Amino acid sequence: MIDARALRKDFPVLDQRVNGRPLVYLDSAATAQKPRPVIDAVRRFFEEDNANVHRAIHALGERATAKYEEARRKVARFINAPSERTIIFTKNATESINLVAYSWARARLKPGDEILVSPIEHHSNLVPWQLAARATGATLRFFDVTEDGQLRLDNLDSLISERTRLVAVTHVSNVLGTIVPVASIVAAARRAGAVVLVDGAQSVPHMPVDVQALGCDFFAFSGHKMGAPTGIGVLYGREELLEAMDPFLGGGDMISSVRLSGSEWAELPYKFEAGTPPIAEAIGLGAAIDYLTAIGMDRVHAYERRLTAYARERLEQLPGITIYGPKERGGLLTFNVDEIHPHDLATVLDQHGIAIRAGHHCAQPVMEWLGVPATARASFWVYNTEDDVERLVEGLRAAKEFFGYVA
Ligand code: PLP
Repeated sequence: MIDARALRKDFPVLDQRVNGRPLVYLDSAATAQKPRPVIDAVRRFFEEDNANVHRAIHALGERATAKYEEARRKVARFINAPSERTIIFTKNATESINLVAYSWARARLKPGDEILVSPIEHHSNLVPWQLAARATGATLRFFDVTEDGQLRLDNLDSLISERTRLVAVTHVSNVLGTIVPVASIVAAARRAGAVVLVDGAQSVPHMPVDVQALGCDFFAFSGHKMGAPTGIGVLYGREELLEAMDPFLGGGDMISSVRLSGSEWAELPYKFEAGTPPIAEAIGLGAAIDYLTAIGMDRVHAYERRLTAYARERLEQLPGITIYGPKERGGLLTFNVDEIHPHDLATVLDQHGIAIRAGHHCAQPVMEWLGVPATARASFWVYNTEDDVERLVEGLRAAKEFFGYVA
């Protein structure tokens, strides 16, 4: 089991008081805090190595390039990608998904084709497909969802047909916490010849991920939810598919030759990395991966499961609380407290030094499905403890009292 109390000391931002109380940070699903080794790696890069990559023939340029490419190898190992050629650095999961929507989907889909999406997606794995469908005449279809927020898999063979060209699905829902059995979906998609994109924004920071075992064609995630800086994301893609795709953005670094009459593209992965990339951010992501690897992703997952189960048990003891989503879940709890708007709840909790998320979580269709305009969400990572959960419970009691709902 991991020692969250000890790990917490690695995160300088957590060592502060907010509104007079020690900070309890329960919003890691939005963005995670950064451990000291990541902060140091980024600082060291700027203090010692800062230069552009893949261009300069000088020592700093070579060191910057070596560190940037080393980060790519770390990412490949972390998600068990077959080669670093299949790892493309982007600015976030959203851009990774849009890259596929533009470079793969728009060039291939036509009227009559279907894109199968789940109704529990973050907007970033829904809106790009709505845009691609509008541009190509393809149709969006949706998985069915069970009452507790899991994707129905017993009717997959009727949902996925020869018309299905792409299945886009989240690995872990950022609202319901649902862990989607991606490998079974990939198997059904394979039978129909469809390509599968997995949104791993909420899985990679929290559990071991092996893209070859999942069997998916594309896998997208963001660095900032796993301890790395903002501004760095990853797209893994199957090499044959990436090879066959046209670039997403044009400019420097993504070409092998440019003439006024036309250009040729650089080899993978550079074909998809136009312009100066997020160099320090990628190096920070490499440091975050080292940090998580040293802890062990199996242990991170086991710890979060235990802490989330504990939190669920404690919150369920409070009257008037509705918790959404299945029992088996990722490291977050989404809930509402009777009669208190989640924004008001978050405001009162903030007064007690507790940071949660309140709103629609960039998943308005999920809110519609739940029949609520918004929810509160507490999300956990390696630095959260049972004490944090107790502070949340205490804060919720205080909020109920404040709004006059003493039970
Ligand atoms: N997918 C899921 C499931 C998410 O939770 C998020 C962010 O909250 C994203 C995608 C988008 O991530 P980003 O905003 O870093 O692109």
